[in-house]
Amino acid sequence: MSRLEIHQIPVLSDNYVYLAHCPETGATAVVDPAVAGPVLDAAKAKGWTISHILNTHHHGDHTGGNLEIKAATGCTIVGPRADHDRIPGIDVQVGDGDTYKLGNAEAVVYDVPGHTRGHIAYWFEGSDALFCGDTLFAMGCGRLFEGTPGQMVASLAKFKTLPPETRVFCAHEYTQSNGRFALSVEPDNDALVQRMQDVDAARAKNIPTVPSTIGIELKTNPFLRADSPDLQRTIGLAGRDYVEVFAETRRLKDSF
Ligand code: ZN
Ligand code: FE
Repeated sequence: MSRLEIHQIPVLSDNYVYLAHCPETGATAVVDPAVAGPVLDAAKAKGWTISHILNTHHHGDHTGGNLEIKAATGCTIVGPRADHDRIPGIDVQVGDGDTYKLGNAEAVVYDVPGHTRGHIAYWFEGSDALFCGDTLFAMGCGRLFEGTPGQMVASLAKFKTLPPETRVFCAHEYTQSNGRFALSVEPDNDALVQRMQDVDAARAKNIPTVPSTIGIELKTNPFLRADSPDLQRTIGLAGRDYVEVFAETRRLKDSF
């Protein structure tokens, strides 16, 4: 089992595209190519040949580079079975519980509907890496464009059981604004206060705050913490049902 080398490419205003490279076989995947040019340039600079695209969901800022990269490299495009008709150039459809081999590395695929109905995530256990697209963000989660709060809670629950050291390679640098909201609903969370100091310092120097880890998210992400008494009290839902608290937290964030 090979450990992937992962290279982060900031594109557009706040997207992250990733190159995931198996050093034993040379297999190289692009995760969620928003655009083609900067991704092809980055692969060339690394000396890596793109063999795959792994898409998490259909949005244009995750698939916009698909066809141009495929035309340039002949790569194989892997994406969600549940949304295959909305993934440009898709070759291989995957869904919940499937495994997919990238060189000598292997991903487990999770269906994680909520942000979109066909959203998936790729967990490379041997690389401590989760590519979760727009489902889980540092201190946040994706907006519910095509799903219900209950679906999103079930999707995020799949991530909560991953090893705490798992790195969370999410698709946007939203951390600072997410953190400001998180502090508004959990002001007495010491781990959150400390994390925001670190995030503010990093962003002041334009340093990425991604990847995060599952362990850090469990302590500081309000969308994984609907059972937090502090959060429940702050939003006026002490002792209420987990999904109800999550839904209200998401609603508050949408208008924060
Ligand atoms: Zn999206
Ligand atoms: Fe996005």
